[in-house]
Amino acid sequence: MAGGGSAIRGSRVGAGPMGEAERGESAPRQRVVYFCSHDHQSEITFAVEAQIPDSWDCPRCGLPASLDSDNPPPAPRTEPYKTHLAYVKERRSDKEAAEILSEAIATLRSRRKSGDIVL
Ligand SMILES: [Zn+2]
Repeated sequence: MAGGGSAIRGSRVGAGPMGEAERGESAPRQRVVYFCSHDHQSEITFAVEAQIPDSWDCPRCGLPASLDSDNPPPAPRTEPYKTHLAYVKERRSDKEAAEILSEAIATLRSRRKSGDIVL
């Protein structure tokens, strides 16, 4: 008799009302497009009952994005996404960059010729 009692109790585990709440695939959604100053369009999906924020961080570049495609929020003064390389490229002209590159290649070739680098 005692064994039968525990079997009934076990069958109730996991069969609560929580199971119904998680089947929410048919819940209505709304899609909102945000625009950042890099011309990225980011489609964000919200639940229909959710409050749509006026701005959203662009998932692609991290800049603030707004609902107004003609007037995206300006990028903040600090640009954390700008790499050191970007700064270097700004300071050097394309010609200089090409010279530096060909110099590096020439150095590499001469080293290879002299046997320092074996590839
Ligand atoms: Zn962006």
